[in-house]
Amino acid sequence: MSRYWSKVVEQLSPYVPGEQPKLDNLVKLNTNENPYGPSPKVIAAIQAELGDNLRLYPDPSSTQLRQTVADYYGIQAEQVFVGNGSDEVLAHLFNALLKHDKPILFPDITYSFYPVYAALYGIDCQCVPLAEDFSLQVKDYVQPNGGIIFPNPNAPTGQLVSLADIEWLLQNNTDSVVVIDEAYIDFGGESAVTLIDSYPNLLVTQTLSKSRSLAGLRVGLAMGHVDLIEALIRVKDSFNSYPMDSLASAGAVAAFEDKTWFESTCNKVITSRQKLTEALTQLGFDVQPSAANFVFACHPQRDAAELAAALRDKGVIVRHFRLDRIEQYLRITIGTPEQNGVLLDALKSILA
Ligand code: PMP
Repeated sequence: MSRYWSKVVEQLSPYVPGEQPKLDNLVKLNTNENPYGPSPKVIAAIQAELGDNLRLYPDPSSTQLRQTVADYYGIQAEQVFVGNGSDEVLAHLFNALLKHDKPILFPDITYSFYPVYAALYGIDCQCVPLAEDFSLQVKDYVQPNGGIIFPNPNAPTGQLVSLADIEWLLQNNTDSVVVIDEAYIDFGGESAVTLIDSYPNLLVTQTLSKSRSLAGLRVGLAMGHVDLIEALIRVKDSFNSYPMDSLASAGAVAAFEDKTWFESTCNKVITSRQKLTEALTQLGFDVQPSAANFVFACHPQRDAAELAAALRDKGVIVRHFRLDRIEQYLRITIGTPEQNGVLLDALKSILA
């Protein structure tokens, strides 16, 4: 604390991201990064952008990227918003769309940045408990609220809510914005983007960090009714006119254009998830059904914190949350078959 701080700073409890240790030979399965690199066409597009033009400001409206995303999903560019990672998009939407008199709703077990944004912007929130089996029951969200937000599939559980259930929720919650955070949707779910023309209060967010392997480039998006997008643009233009630098925009456009790379890397992750789930089950773990690029698992006889520490000693890092209901779980990012093999060998020797 310092006497120079603004008052609000003292009261903040910032989000704690998974660590990024600078160690060689680490099997890093703790932050849901993609084990396969981005498309070579993305690298080429960024390299082509590296030149004298960097002296110019980028397009403040990110017109080309928004049009590319719109074409990809068969929607209008005016229905697309882009930002510096979906975390920034989420920050803007909390500010622009979720700040009302009633509390916003999100699951008790979910992305831990939501309560941080709520606190930053002075938004009341109410946690809605997941069912015993960690499934999200949309009927539990039909209650007075200032907005609803959850990831689909949920993080860190990996469980998916069906598109039919999301549509049911939209039909039964028309007075506030429903945000579906689709950070992991490409690994096994069906996007709710197809519903944005029918439901003016639906906002879908996505990221290029996971399925397009561009966590380092920082590109996220939101799609919804033009009125919702306009609110986001008003907040963005009151904060930073140029959140998308020209390299990020060029790379992101190329990422959406290279569908072949996208599909083949997603499929590899999905295949590995299946195999890893089976292998962990054989080692005695209870593994949650996952539609994401990670699995959420607990071992009935072994303490999760101890397992995480023992894995770390063997050069494998996974994520463990010291939080109510999930303190006996590990969230393990799907790696390459080789990395998953190292993880399984380490677990075998720890459990032996
Ligand atoms: N939503 C969820 C559910 C996430 O797990 C993450 C990744 N930490 C994000 C959003 C943010 O991703 P990014 O800022 O890299 O787009």
